[in-house]
Amino acid sequence: METVRKKDIRALSLEDLRDFFVNNNDKSFRGNQVYQWLWKKGIHDFEGMTNLSIETRSLLEEHFVINNIAIDRQQKSKDGTLKNAVKLFDNLIVESVLIPTATRTTACVSSQVGCSLDCKFCATASIKRMRNLNIDEIYDQVVAMDKQSRYYFDRPLSNIVFMGMGEPLMNYKNLMGSIAKITQSDGLGMSPSRITISTSGIPKMIKKLADENVKFGLAVSLHSARQEVREQLMPFAEKFPLTDLADSLKYWYKATSSLVTYEYVVWKDINDKQEDIDALVKFCMHVPCKVNLIEYNPIGDDTFKQADTTQVEKYQKALERVRITATIRRSRGKDIDAACGQLANKTKGLSS
Ligand code: SAH
Repeated sequence: METVRKKDIRALSLEDLRDFFVNNNDKSFRGNQVYQWLWKKGIHDFEGMTNLSIETRSLLEEHFVINNIAIDRQQKSKDGTLKNAVKLFDNLIVESVLIPTATRTTACVSSQVGCSLDCKFCATASIKRMRNLNIDEIYDQVVAMDKQSRYYFDRPLSNIVFMGMGEPLMNYKNLMGSIAKITQSDGLGMSPSRITISTSGIPKMIKKLADENVKFGLAVSLHSARQEVREQLMPFAEKFPLTDLADSLKYWYKATSSLVTYEYVVWKDINDKQEDIDALVKFCMHVPCKVNLIEYNPIGDDTFKQADTTQVEKYQKALERVRITATIRRSRGKDIDAACGQLANKTKGLSS
């Protein structure tokens, strides 16, 4: 119990750490040393901070904890994709996925335990949102997968996508905090251009991102450019109409000059008609964009079925006619429930 009451030291900024040492009659510089251990060197206990005196280490023990994540279970897909069940300090579990290709290794990261949105086709939506992940819990998933990438594929992580469990823009502060750590030289030092945030499309938050002039990529889970169809797929979209979404994307593009990626699944008898295709083509005129036509990953419900390949190809051709790149994406890690929308803690319980 004692440990839970102490504050996690990684919730402190560099300034907070420097102040802590000054308030404890030490040099502010000590804060920089600790910060480096925590974020650059990835040390997970005070004992390991070997350039600090024993007194300083016990002072830290007395005041703080370091709540580490633990990889509770790892599954490997036939295609090489690795899924991690990540156990948090309070025993909750999220999942993260490492996806290797010939040239890249991409980490798919979770931002919340469960999700507060209600996309009908997504397995994560069946778990209610239990809490937001902290900065360090997001960051640690990336660090763990960077190590896995080096170990299994002999190369560092090349890309990060916030496409795991949760809606990243509903955990905005910690999302931004974790990206700061991922990109800063005192952290992983990765380029922001290698990071993509995937959002279900919350206009106000997209504008906020634009205002911060971020340098990472934005993907929007569109799935339909017809308001009435989108609302059936994603009921929360009633509050965020496509007109507002389009406005926010124009705002985003104006501020960042960065094109938007639309994620789009084509389902049989739901959004596979010509009028659906026409609506998407029209929506794509709002801002420079590309479209990822992603394969549907069944979540054990008969409502949704992947559309016929010919219909998906019709989408692709219609988009290419107006010079919009449309890629048909095959799923990865489907056999271990690691593909888009399949993260639902089926391994839950193994840890307890
Ligand atoms: N909350 C974020 C990240 C979620 S998952 C978002 O909504 O963008 C990443 C992508 O997988 C999203 O585009 C999501 O719509 C899609 N997805 C969800 N369930 C899926 C499923 N069963 N099959 C294929 N894609 C799915």
